[in-house]
Amino acid sequence: MTLKGKTAIITGSNSGIGFGVARELARAGADVVLNSFTDSPEDHALAAGIAAEFGVRARYIKADMSKGDECRALVDAAGGCDILVNNAGIQFVAPIEAFPAAKWDAIIAVNLSSAFHTIAAALPHMRKRGWGRVVNIASAHGLTASPYKAAYVAAKHGIVGLTKTVALETAQEPITVNAICPGYVLTPLVEAQIPDQMKTHGMSREDVIKKVMLDRQPSREFATVEQLGGTTVFLCSPAAEQITGTTISVDGGWTAL
Ligand code: NAD
Repeated sequence: MTLKGKTAIITGSNSGIGFGVARELARAGADVVLNSFTDSPEDHALAAGIAAEFGVRARYIKADMSKGDECRALVDAAGGCDILVNNAGIQFVAPIEAFPAAKWDAIIAVNLSSAFHTIAAALPHMRKRGWGRVVNIASAHGLTASPYKAAYVAAKHGIVGLTKTVALETAQEPITVNAICPGYVLTPLVEAQIPDQMKTHGMSREDVIKKVMLDRQPSREFATVEQLGGTTVFLCSPAAEQITGTTISVDGGWTAL
C-alpha cells in the first residue's frame, strides 16, 4: 500500500512507539514529521535517517505537547497533515494519596489534552485535502485499569472517549478517527517503570517483567513498535475506510481476560 503524497505528523516520535510508527508510515511512502520537546542534533538526525532510508521527506519539529499552543503550532509549522498520530505520552506510578498533583496535571496534559489541540488544529487541513486519518495511541489502560496509575488510566480512557466523539463529528467525511490500544511494548517508557515496580512489589527485574507486566498479557510476549506501526498503516489503508470511532487492541490478549 502506498501513502505517497501524504504527510504524517507523529507526536512524541524521537523514541519508542512514535519512532517505530514514523518508520512504518515512511516505509509505506508517507512524508513524516517527527516531534518531541527537545531540539538536539540527534533529533534532526533521526528525521534525516528516515528520509535517507525510505526516500521520503522527513522533518523534525520541536514542540512541547504539555502546552496547548505548542501542540497547535506543531500542526501549523508542518503546514497541516493528512495523517495525525497522537502518540506523545508519559507515565508516573504511585498510590493515589501519594500521587503528586503536578504529575497528574502533566500526564493529563501530554497524554490527553495534546490530542484535543492537535486534532482541532489538523481537522481543517484534512477537510481542505479531502482525506484524513487520526490515530490515537491509547493503551490497554484505555480499556482496563491497574492500581497506582490513576492519571495514566484516566488520560487513556479519556483519549478513547475523545476518539469516539471526533469520529462521530467526522463520520460523513472522508476522515477516520481511531485509537490503538497496545499492551506492554518494551520501550524507554516501560523501562523507566521497572525500578518503581521493583520497589512497589519488592521484586527483581525479571519477576516484574514476567509476574507483573506480562502477567496481564496472555501471549507472555511484548508487542513491538513495528506491529504498532503496521496497525497504523492498516488504519490508513482503503480496507479501513469504514473503521472509525473504535479501538484496536494490540495486547497479546490482555483485554480478552
Ligand atoms: P517513550 O518514552 O519511548 O516515548 C514517548 C515519546 O513521547 C518520546 O518521544 C518523548 O520524547 C515524547 N514526549 C514526552 N513528553 C513530551 C512532551 N511534553 N512533548 C512532546 N513529546 C513528548 O514511550 P513509548 O512507550 O514509546 O510510548 C508512546 C505512547 O505509547 C505513549 O502514549 C504511551 O502511553 C503509549 N503506550 C505505550 C505502551 C508501552 O508498553 N510502551 C503501552 C501502551 C501505550
